[in-house]
Amino acid sequence: MGTEFANKSIECTINNCKHHCCCDNYCSLERIKVGTHENDPTVIPCTDCQSFELKRDCCR
Ligand code: SF4
Repeated sequence: MGTEFANKSIECTINNCKHHCCCDNYCSLERIKVGTHENDPTVIPCTDCQSFELKRDCCR
């Protein structure tokens, strides 16, 4: 499955990620892993998509 696939169960606006759907604000993966970088997460910024991978040639 390529990035043309839009998993309508996973909305995402992270265009810098290589798994972002090319044509809409969705993830192109079948599933993702969400985690945290905090010991005691309490707000949204404490959470991370741990399936994120930087798109090649992006942002450098
Ligand atoms: S892997 Fe995570 S950050 Fe990347 S497109 Fe999917 S949901 Fe977004």
